[in-house]
Amino acid sequence: MPELRQNIITGDWVVVAPERAKRPRDFVIPKSVKIADKTKCPFCVGTDGYKANEKIRMHAAPHVYVIENRYPAFVMDDTERSVRSFYPEDGFYRARASVGDHEVVVIEDHDTPLFKIPKLILNEMMEVIRSRYVWMKEHEKVVSIMPIYNHGAEAGASIDHPHAQIFASGIVSNTVGKEIDGADKYYGIAGNCVYCDMIAHEQMEKVRIVFENDKFIAINFYASRFPFETWILPKKHESQFELTTKESMTQFSDALWEVLKMIDKTLENPPLNFFVHTLPTIIEDSASFHWHLEIVPRVSRYGGFELGSEVIINTMPPEEATHYLKG
Ligand code: AMP
Ligand code: ZN
Ligand code: ZN
Repeated sequence: MPELRQNIITGDWVVVAPERAKRPRDFVIPKSVKIADKTKCPFCVGTDGYKANEKIRMHAAPHVYVIENRYPAFVMDDTERSVRSFYPEDGFYRARASVGDHEVVVIEDHDTPLFKIPKLILNEMMEVIRSRYVWMKEHEKVVSIMPIYNHGAEAGASIDHPHAQIFASGIVSNTVGKEIDGADKYYGIAGNCVYCDMIAHEQMEKVRIVFENDKFIAINFYASRFPFETWILPKKHESQFELTTKESMTQFSDALWEVLKMIDKTLENPPLNFFVHTLPTIIEDSASFHWHLEIVPRVSRYGGFELGSEVIINTMPPEEATHYLKG
């Protein structure tokens, strides 16, 4: 079972999830993107690789299906085991059972990479993610859920077949925890949601808006850590991703599709991650926290200073990024 370990100094959480029988050589970084042999692809229906995968699979939408993760970072645990922290072995450090769920949301066609996914299928994918989210949320040990997408080896994708992932866990992530604290503090002072105020400000300044439709806005975040980092936010205050209506989800997927198209055109199929930051599932609603999607093209790397300080040096001012993305 994977284990959550707490940094005794900062309080940050780390998941230690050993993959079966991994040897040091397996950690040697491949020089180029691994092209998966389709006949062995574990995410292609009908192949030997897929059949070898004994986990549950569901056809959730015409072009999208869901499979249970073979190497989950968080696992469903219906035993009486407490999700509380405990002191393992020597009673010095703190740890927790890494309880939750970790599913893979697969796009049916192996040969449709992220930037080529049609709007309709991207929308199907987001709807499937939303419905699995709602299902995972019911598990009493789940505290927060984060849908993510990895594209390209440099962005952490180990399987070439297009797929998203949903991580449900018994903790609030280090990042979302910080965002909630910051948003609460701002609310205490300004009496408003910081994200709503930021949207109003961006609409006034008009230098970092990449795309807008009725319900969503895409901006290059003022204090972007990474070149071309782009956020998509609902324009009306919403703290919970899973409450997005069907109509809004279509607009959300449209915005995502438009932004991905611009990123692809500007950066030519870059490795990229995107992830949803939303309210922990144990909180009913929030006037201060506003859900959003962050898109990060992986065109820069952490050097020693970034790794050592978590102060990231971004060589592309977000205002310029907007200019390039809008062509
Ligand atoms: P990525 O590494 O981003 O490409 O994501 C691949 C995900 O699929 C990881 O979370 C793996 O744990 C998971 N995975 C790898 N092989 C299989 C398999 N055969 N069946 C189900 N999930 C898998
Ligand atoms: Zn495949
Ligand atoms: Zn708001």
